[in-house]
Amino acid sequence: MAQKPHQPSSAEIYQSLKKLNVLGNVLYLAAHPDDENTRLIGYMAQHELVNAAYLSLTRGDGGQNLVGSELREGLGVIRTQELLAARRTDGSKQFFTRANDFGYSKNPEETLKIWDKERVLHDMVMVIRQFRPDVIITRFPPDGGGGHGHHTSSAILALEAFDLAADKNAYPEQLEELQVWQPKRLLVNIGRWWNKGITADSEGVVTIDVGQYNSVLGQSYNELAARSRSQHKSQGFGSTGSRGEQVELLEYLKGDKAEDHVFENIDMTWRRVKGSDEVQALIKKAITGYNPNSPEKCIQDLIAIKTALNKLKDGFWKAKKTAEVDRLIVQCSGLYLEAVAIDYYTSPNEIVSLNVEAINRSASNVTLKRIWSESVVIDSTLNLPLLNNKRNRFKTTLSVPETMAYSQPYWLVNKAKSEGTYSINDQDAGKGENEPAIIIKAEVSINNQKLILDIPVIYKWNDPVKGELYRPFYVIPPVSINVVDPVLIFRKNQAREINVVVKAGQDGLSTMVRPVTPKGWQVTPQEIKVDLERKGEEKQLTFKVVSPNVQETINLNFEASIDSKTYSKGLTEINYDHIPSQIILTDAATKLVNIDVTIAGSKIAYIHGAGDAVPQGLRNMGYQVDELENGAINLENLKTYDAVVLGIRAVNTDKRFPFYKEDLMKYTEQGGTLVMQYNKSYGMTTKEFSPYPITLSHDRVTAEGAQMRILTPDHAVLNTPNKITNNDFEGWVQERGLYFPNEWDEKYAAVLSSNDPGEDPKEGSLLVTTYGKGHYVYTGLSFFREIPAGVPGAYRLLANIVSLSL
Ligand SMILES: [Zn+2]
Repeated sequence: MAQKPHQPSSAEIYQSLKKLNVLGNVLYLAAHPDDENTRLIGYMAQHELVNAAYLSLTRGDGGQNLVGSELREGLGVIRTQELLAARRTDGSKQFFTRANDFGYSKNPEETLKIWDKERVLHDMVMVIRQFRPDVIITRFPPDGGGGHGHHTSSAILALEAFDLAADKNAYPEQLEELQVWQPKRLLVNIGRWWNKGITADSEGVVTIDVGQYNSVLGQSYNELAARSRSQHKSQGFGSTGSRGEQVELLEYLKGDKAEDHVFENIDMTWRRVKGSDEVQALIKKAITGYNPNSPEKCIQDLIAIKTALNKLKDGFWKAKKTAEVDRLIVQCSGLYLEAVAIDYYTSPNEIVSLNVEAINRSASNVTLKRIWSESVVIDSTLNLPLLNNKRNRFKTTLSVPETMAYSQPYWLVNKAKSEGTYSINDQDAGKGENEPAIIIKAEVSINNQKLILDIPVIYKWNDPVKGELYRPFYVIPPVSINVVDPVLIFRKNQAREINVVVKAGQDGLSTMVRPVTPKGWQVTPQEIKVDLERKGEEKQLTFKVVSPNVQETINLNFEASIDSKTYSKGLTEINYDHIPSQIILTDAATKLVNIDVTIAGSKIAYIHGAGDAVPQGLRNMGYQVDELENGAINLENLKTYDAVVLGIRAVNTDKRFPFYKEDLMKYTEQGGTLVMQYNKSYGMTTKEFSPYPITLSHDRVTAEGAQMRILTPDHAVLNTPNKITNNDFEGWVQERGLYFPNEWDEKYAAVLSSNDPGEDPKEGSLLVTTYGKGHYVYTGLSFFREIPAGVPGAYRLLANIVSLSL
């Protein structure tokens, strides 16, 4: 489980010990979380024993989510954590840039126009100068073979960063702390899907068999990779490991050519460091003498290595290897140090009670000298001898200063200036995630060797089903305001109630909560006093909102004041089993969408797919929406609904779809309206999901402002109950739609035509047909993005679609 302090086994310690003797770095580079070749990364980290890292230019905000309803920033936070979990699994490091995954992009020209190329390069150059890769391996080729514009851009930028990192005139401000670095070579990890003809014998190609078996770890790198790849759960990338040979091809892109081996002519031994003969000899001795039954016997050797390292001139490898040795000394002693807060969050000015556990599980001589913190007030000199396997537990308190920053992903703190780039501080470039909110420093002495350890404050509890669980500790505002409905649909001069939930981040909260009323709107009451006794308590408040006479979309923000201070954030928690719990602070705002929308009918059935907010959107317009479980999907029940809407990718994700499909078709035939949102052609539970043939494709229109041409102006879907015009296609977000059919039976009416710049018209985004007395609709329009974003035209068109048979 995430965040539990990890005590490595003897075998893992042995791997780390062998790693002390290898001085090499390799950087894998691509665009998204899940682009990386986990086999190759795991092989590099555990077989070649080099420092391996993956640089993902983005955090994957633009993707889809198979585990929950988070999209955009929330999804980026999940996918960041999935990557970090994958790297913990394969034993490598993770970097990012500030580039934002703004959604599918068909070519690098568009991508590099939307990304702030110069800043993204800044971040890449900084990662290269920090990490000093000997070899950089891109996932994709620079010529477009990788498809997605982000993919191709990652390779184009890698070629540029390869030179810039070595150029002292590039980003000179980085050189105050770092040095220029010239990687030896840049290779591309050939995918056979874009380069079918290439073989191991092709010019400029070197090979690696990443299918080897590691007897120390008891698994092949393929099996290891399957575990790390399976962390990408939001992308449905659960993987099955394989065994046996697996050859990867790496093709030359830039730098020194290699004939046979990826690390050819790169010295990865201690010969890289002048005067390190003694260090090298001592490491050899430690490895040879290592006894898995008593790793603590290795501590004296490690202390000798540390002493020898200390005599070397300061430099990259000295610092890196000293840190590795320090970690190994602690690991060999079996020392367990844990600082657990009695709750999982606090706020500035609060006192936090902490339970500390310290135990030495070896015959080594360990003393806990002192604990303190640089961020909060705590400082105790302990001089506590830690006897072999005797548990030491004590309580202490932290006081959190008033100036303490709230915990939230560093790249979300400042508002992004554009859709293509997060706004971050330059010095954070490359960083995977925030440091833990509070770190306790511990000075320990192990066999008279002084070591300073970082212990993140955590929270843990026991779950009756899952057992011991850990989560990160957070600093949050003293009061947060969560809006219940992120989007509310109004007709002109309509009154609706709006609910917010006020949550106390501290005991004895007394605050005034106020709406910031937009011009022309009425919100009452103008303030509500809230008193909450205990931290964690919540209170729901209701305000009445009356819309004006004009059609508009506007934010209604809420604020809470304590004394003279104002707080205006809501707090979203992201909890999944495979990643550490995350907190995001968002503006306490509801989007008010005042539109002219008429609905017909009243009752809609929704069948779940991969997860989308269409049911909430329909309710928002005034429908009753029942989310049907399997047992309820039968003809008799379906007949009571005006329309049945399927969630995105329902035909892909619901294994029972083929069995209730007949009932759906009969329901349609007898006068219902069946609406299918997009599916992927790959991995369908059945290819027969429509009354007349439809062939799905990868056609998509990614430009959200692409012109929408109306092909059937008189069709009911564009006229009743709402007249759809070009205005309804304004203000769409991220894209028009995806996975459109590219062939269909002539019984369908293709209603809309659209295309990305320079492409042929795509006419499969909205297909409608009558079937018996009813209507069948297949649409790849991205309602799942437009509805939660409050796009008026998407609501109006959706209202028409579900009322086709009325
Ligand atoms: Zn990708």
